Amino acid sequence: MEGGGFVRLDAHMGDDLSVVNAARVSFGARSDAMDERNAGLVRFLMRDRHGTPFEHNAFRFHIRCPIFVVREWMRHRIGSFNELSARYAEMKADFYVPAAADVRTQVGKPGAYVFEPVEAEHAERTRDAIAASYAAAFATYRALLDDGVAKEVARTVLPVGIFTEFYWTVNARSVMNFLSLRNHEAAQLEIRRYAVAVETLWGERMPVTRDAFVANARTAP
Ligand SMILES: Cc1cc2nc3c(=O)[nH]c(=O)nc-3n(C[C@H](O)[C@H](O)[C@H](O)COP(=O)(O)OP(=O)(O)OC[C@H]3O[C@@H](n4cnc5c(N)ncnc54)[C@H](O)[C@@H]3O)c2cc1C
Repeated sequence: MEGGGFVRLDAHMGDDLSVVNAARVSFGARSDAMDERNAGLVRFLMRDRHGTPFEHNAFRFHIRCPIFVVREWMRHRIGSFNELSARYAEMKADFYVPAAADVRTQVGKPGAYVFEPVEAEHAERTRDAIAASYAAAFATYRALLDDGVAKEVARTVLPVGIFTEFYWTVNARSVMNFLSLRNHEAAQLEIRRYAVAVETLWGERMPVTRDAFVANARTAP
C-alpha cells in the first residue's frame, strides 16, 4: 500500500466449521469436518440472515494507514480497537501522498459523485501541494516539541494524511458488514484498498462463508 501502509492478520480463532456448529447446537448436534451438507447450511444461514452463528470466531488485524482512513474504519462499532497514541509516542514524518493515478476530481451531486482522473500535470501539482503542506505541518510539530511543548499539544498541527497504526479484533459477521460497505464502489478508494486486503485475509480462513457472502449479493447476515 502507498507510503508503507499494510493489513496484517495478527491472529485468528474460528473457521467455517464454527458457523456450522453454532447452528447445529440448536439440535444438540455437532460436525467435525466441512462437507457439502455443511456448506449448504452456511449458504442457508447467509441467505436467510441467521447472523449469530457467524459471530463465534475472532480475527485480530494489525493495520497501518492514514488517520483519515482510520476515521472511517472506527465508525464500525462492532469490534475492538487500540491505536497508536500521539500523546505518548512521537509521530514520524510518514504521510500519505496519493499516486498520480489516484489524484481525482469529483463530478455530480453529493451522494452520487463520479470520480474522474485529472491530467498528469494537474496530478503532479496536487501531489507537490500535498507534500509541501505535510512538510510545513511536520516542521511546526517538530519545532513545538523542540520548544518543550507536550506531544499531546504539538500533535494538534498534524494533518489527517499522517500514518497511524491500530489493532482491530472483529468477528466474521461484523467483517462482512464492514466489507459490504467498504469493499464497495461507493467507498473511498483509499479505505477500499485496505478492505480488499481484509477480505483476502479473512476469506482464506473462512472460504465457504466468504463465497456465500459474495453469492448473497455481499449482504452481511
Ligand atoms: C459510503 C459511505 C459514506 C458514509 N458517509 C458518512 C457521512 O457522511 N457521515 C457519517 O457520519 N457517517 C458516514 N458513513 C459511516 C456510516 O454511517 C456508518 O457509521 C459506518 O458505515 C458503520 O456502519 P455500521 O453502523 O453498519 O457498522 P457497525 O457500527 O459495525 O454496526 C454493525 C451493525 O450493528 C448494528 N448496530 C450497531 N450499533 C447500533 C445501534 N446503536 N443501534 C442499532 N443497531 C446498531 C447495525 O445493524 C449495524 O449495521 C459512511 C459510510 C459509508 C460506507
